[in-house]
Amino acid sequence: MSTTASEELFARAQQVSPGGVNSPVRAFRAVGGTPRFMASGTGAWLTDADGNRYVDLVGSWGPMLLGHAHPEVIEAVTAAAARGTSFGTPAEPEVLLAEEIVGRTPVDRVRLVSSGTEATMSAIRLARGFTGRDRIVKFSGCYHGHVDALLAEAGSGVVTLGIPGTPGVPAHVTADTIVLPYNDPAAVDAAFAEYGDQIACVITEAAAGNMGVVPPHPGFNEHLARTCAEHGALFITDEVMTGFRAARSGYWEIDGKVEGWKPDLMTFGKVMGGGFPAAAFGGRADVMDLLAPVGPVYQAGTLSGNPVATTAGLTTLRLATPEVYDRLNATSTQVQSLVSDALAEAGVPHTLQTAGTMFSVFWGVAEPVADFAGAQSQDTAAYTAFFHAMLDAGVYLPPSAYEAWFLSAAHDPDVDSEPLSRLAEALPGAA
Ligand code: PLP
Repeated sequence: MSTTASEELFARAQQVSPGGVNSPVRAFRAVGGTPRFMASGTGAWLTDADGNRYVDLVGSWGPMLLGHAHPEVIEAVTAAAARGTSFGTPAEPEVLLAEEIVGRTPVDRVRLVSSGTEATMSAIRLARGFTGRDRIVKFSGCYHGHVDALLAEAGSGVVTLGIPGTPGVPAHVTADTIVLPYNDPAAVDAAFAEYGDQIACVITEAAAGNMGVVPPHPGFNEHLARTCAEHGALFITDEVMTGFRAARSGYWEIDGKVEGWKPDLMTFGKVMGGGFPAAAFGGRADVMDLLAPVGPVYQAGTLSGNPVATTAGLTTLRLATPEVYDRLNATSTQVQSLVSDALAEAGVPHTLQTAGTMFSVFWGVAEPVADFAGAQSQDTAAYTAFFHAMLDAGVYLPPSAYEAWFLSAAHDPDVDSEPLSRLAEALPGAA
């Protein structure tokens, strides 16, 4: 496989951008080698600058639920762009997208923003404004974007690069952040026993996906919701990754809807932007109405609710019917068994974990992974070897052992379909 064009682009990129990338994990630092510079994507496939084709199991880190360049999304986006790319005024597509989100999830109102980071940052500010309290609770291994106060024992690129905290975040900014072990209700109880009247909110990934996929134990999120309610704190579920991905309305559909609890605030991103920069936070009307211009909590954005991005998101969500999630579940199950069977046959110890249609593999771990310590006990060197073998065989996996694998509706659940047969052929033990 020739990678000359990617190598040349990477050399040039490193001259003009730190590490040659605009988001750290893309640089392949954890796995080594030259990041592939992608030139195009169609359905389940990516094509790099050298013309190599890959079955894509990253899906732009989650957004590409329908696959790349879905014809109806492209048509809608092209028409929207032709009508004008940004007005800085309210416009119909943002109303339609907000209605779609409110219709699918337990939130009463949403505010649209441009990235998941903005969504969680704004949700935390709103929670602090609503409660008049400063302390916040997060869980180690959960990642909520690069919000200063939340960059403490975070997952995603922070763990991939082995960064303990982050220079540039003053100690006083994280002084009010209480970091607790994931899936540990006793630790939550202890924190509330000590600081209960000072905690503005608990924020958690609805199901953790940024230390690999670590679903909440049954009742854990419910415990968080109840504890917050008892102490006058707000419960924020971050569904930037899981929203409209783990299931049609997100992980809440699998968890809160079944157990009978609701978050006070939620954050969304990725799928709801259909591959464009769009994200949102939303929740209880009485909390959301504290936002400017109704209330005093300030939050704003030049490109918030951008008509092209909201059209991409709206078209994607409208096409994401229950049948699409059935298909995603079928493909996900199919890929999981392909991978698991191949690894078992090759004698590679592993644990495969799911959150709805999302899943990931923990290398060299025989027990279920419940928290960050468990996730970090995996054999990242074994993953690196696997990653490169798969890449050379034309399968694009996340360039880190700490990331979820994402499929799309364009991947066929039939193992003889082209993308899945390519995957099957690439797996260890294949002839
Ligand atoms: N929250 C979660 C759960 C995420 O997975 C991410 C990104 O991966 C974010 C927030 C931040 O989103 P963005 O990268 O759009 O800022």
